[in-house]
Amino acid sequence: MQDDVSRLVGVDWLTVTDVVDHGRWLGLEVELSARVGCCRWCGRGSLMVKDRDLVRIRDLPIAGRLTYLLWRKRRYRCEACERTFTETHPELPARQRVSARFRARLFERCRAGNAHAEVAREEHTTRYQVARAFEVGADQLQAARGRRPPRRLSLDEAAHRRRGELATVVSDLDRRRVIEVLDGRSRHVVELYLQQLPERYRRSIKVVSIDPHEAYRQAIKAQLPQARIVVDHFHLVRGANTALDVVRRERQRERRTRRPKGARRSGQHLSWRQDLFHSRHRLLRAREKLTARERLKLCELFEREPLLAEAWGLKEAFRSTYRAPDRAEAERRLDAFLAAVDRAQLPSFTAFAEGVSQWREEQLAYFEQPTTNGYAEGVINKIKLIKRRAYGLPTFAGFRKRAVIACG
Ligand SMILES: [Zn+2]
Repeated sequence: MQDDVSRLVGVDWLTVTDVVDHGRWLGLEVELSARVGCCRWCGRGSLMVKDRDLVRIRDLPIAGRLTYLLWRKRRYRCEACERTFTETHPELPARQRVSARFRARLFERCRAGNAHAEVAREEHTTRYQVARAFEVGADQLQAARGRRPPRRLSLDEAAHRRRGELATVVSDLDRRRVIEVLDGRSRHVVELYLQQLPERYRRSIKVVSIDPHEAYRQAIKAQLPQARIVVDHFHLVRGANTALDVVRRERQRERRTRRPKGARRSGQHLSWRQDLFHSRHRLLRAREKLTARERLKLCELFEREPLLAEAWGLKEAFRSTYRAPDRAEAERRLDAFLAAVDRAQLPSFTAFAEGVSQWREEQLAYFEQPTTNGYAEGVINKIKLIKRRAYGLPTFAGFRKRAVIACG
C-alpha cells in the first residue's frame, strides 16, 4: 500500500510511512527507499544508523492541499573510521526546505511572466523562496541552452526604467531569442560585450540588424568588421511618419495663432480644426491599408491642405523604397525621395532626409539581407509587460535575467 502512495505522489524513490492531516496542511512522513551502501569518507560498508533528524520540506500540493514531506533523515555512523554523515538526495536539496520539483514549479510560474510577489502569495510561500527558485532555474536553463553561435544578430534599444539610461537587447534573429541584455547603449558597452564573445562565435555573425544609433554602428564596425550592418526599416518608416505628423501639428498651430484681429481670447477654440485632429491616424496609415472612405476623407483634406498633401506624398515615397523589387530600384526610389524633399522645403522632412542619408548604405543593405528587428520589437513589448507585472524591476540584474529567461 505504501508503495502505491509513493507512486501516486510521484516519488517512488521515497517510502511513505504515514500520511497525517494537520488541518491546514497535509504531512507525508517519508524516508529514502534506498539505504546508503558504503561510507562516504572511507568507502567501506559497515554502517550503522545513528539517529534520524526530522526535516520539513515543502512539496507539490496534493489535491490542491498544502503539502509537506516530513523526512526522517538518517544519520549514519561508520564503524570502520568512526565518522558520521547524513544521507542526501538530489530531489531534496540540503538546507533548502523545498523540494526540487516544488522549486521547478515556482520557476515555471515566474518564467511565464508572473510577478514574484504574486507567485509567493498564490503558492503560500515566501518571496525569498520564489526569488531563489528563479535564480536556480534561470542558471540551469541558461546552461542547458548552450551557446550556439548566431548568424544574424540584432541590437535594439529598450527602456529599463522610466527615466534613465536605455538598455540594449541583443537577440539571435534566426532562433528568435534574446541572448543578452546590456546595461546601456554606448559604443563602449557594446564593444565590451562583443569583445568577450569567443572568436568562433564572433566570426559566425554575418548580419547585424540595428536601430539607427551611431554608437551601435561604430561598435560593430570595430568589433565585427566582416558583418553586414542593416538598419531596421521600422525605425526609418516611423521617422517618416513623425516628420509627417510634425507638419500636421504645425498646420494646427498656425490656424490657432492666426486669429482675426479683435477676436476674443475665448474664441480661440473656434480655430481648432477637428479635421486636422481626426486625420492623424488616416495620415499615418499605410496607403495600401486605407479603406475607400478613408481615402475620400484624405482627398477632401488634401484639397484644403496642399502642404499636408505634399508631406503625405513624401512619406509614401519613402515607404515605397521598401517595396522595390531589388537594390537598384530601391536606390532609384530613394534618390527620387531625397530630390522631392529638397524641392518641398519642409523642415521636418529635410531633417529626416539628412538622418536617412547618413544610413544610406545600411538602409540599402536591406535589399541584400532582408532582416528586420520585428522580433526584437515584440520582445521589448513583452519586457514592458514583465516590468509592469513586477511593479518595476529595481535592479538591472533582475531586469536582465527576467528578460533573457522570458524571451530567450
Ligand atoms: Zn568510514
